Amino acid sequence: MAKREADRPSDLRSPASALGIYVHIPFCSAICNYCNFNRGLYDAGLKTRYLAALRTEIARAANARAADTIFFGGGTPSLLEPDEVRGIIEAVREAFSLDPDAEITLETNPETVDRAKLEGFRAAGVNRVSFGVQSFQDEELRRLGRIHSADRARAAVRDARAAGFDNVSLDLMMWLPGQSVDAWLANVDALTAADPDHASLYLLELYPNAPLKEDMARSGWSQAPDDDAAEMYLRALAKLDAAGYAQYEISNVARPGRASRHNLKYWCDGEWLGFGCGAHSTVAGVRWKNASATGEYIDRVAGATDPVAERRRLSADERLEEALFTGLRLAEGIDLVQLSDRYGVDVWARYGDELQRFLEGGWLVREGPRLRLTRDGMLMANEVMAVFV
Ligand code: SF4
Repeated sequence: MAKREADRPSDLRSPASALGIYVHIPFCSAICNYCNFNRGLYDAGLKTRYLAALRTEIARAANARAADTIFFGGGTPSLLEPDEVRGIIEAVREAFSLDPDAEITLETNPETVDRAKLEGFRAAGVNRVSFGVQSFQDEELRRLGRIHSADRARAAVRDARAAGFDNVSLDLMMWLPGQSVDAWLANVDALTAADPDHASLYLLELYPNAPLKEDMARSGWSQAPDDDAAEMYLRALAKLDAAGYAQYEISNVARPGRASRHNLKYWCDGEWLGFGCGAHSTVAGVRWKNASATGEYIDRVAGATDPVAERRRLSADERLEEALFTGLRLAEGIDLVQLSDRYGVDVWARYGDELQRFLEGGWLVREGPRLRLTRDGMLMANEVMAVFV
């Protein structure tokens, strides 16, 4: 029996109605050896010019739309000073109708903050911190080129609580080089001991030229076999279930009411505006991406040129496909009737035959109008989602 709308967690309801605002901060104090994000080394002068460009870009986008989330992502947004973060939040408030209860998240590297700085971020309007912890074992952190220690990560969570944050998220990475199943599960135990409100578990992805690949070859570190990675995932989620977290997305768990409202916009066919270098936006079926290089982005904004490097209207089929494969990432899955109505296509008639074998294999479940991946199915999500693209 499908859940009625009124039974659904409030943070999963109608996230598409207001805009999400993403703000990219591309500066880091050191570059991790596995990182494939759009980032560069911190430079104070460049940062000042970048923040001015960001405020200008936000002001130029002003419209009457409501926004109910701001997400500072990077790079390392916590390298900014609290007043600089406040300035960006103010720019968003002036440009859009920002919900007084907006979720305002700052991605934070534990090494870049202390209690006073976190108090400053809280006073500036940030109400959610997301710590990139990755591991609670110093040797694993060293292998990744991370600059913080496990103790520093624990202390940062305590500092955040002392600074008044009641919405704290931690990121962990699994399947690290040389990491055993037991070592990974010890990280999960350390995470639950730190007692965050939300956690994201990511699989380490090694892109082709990652310096970490060379380090692994030189040092003889390898990743555990695929079967172990599946065991790591399933046993970690079982531990998180037992600790009172609910899985709401393939890689994300939360305490009640603490699912990431911003990220839900990406998974629930919502709309968002991205500001800063390389930032993506999707509004009314149009997707665009800003110039990736920090200097080029600043020059374009300062020269009153459009910072957008690519823009295209998504076709109706692309929008539907995307709604399917992002929606299926959610533990509650997708509502086939709602999507069929929204896109004017009978979704089951189009894809049902191909999806049948996943239903029979126990990877997918159909309950009333909803279709969702089982937890075993989440391990096979790429195979299932290939049906849609
Ligand atoms: S701190 Fe994050 S964005 Fe910066 S280099 Fe490391 S992984 Fe990449």
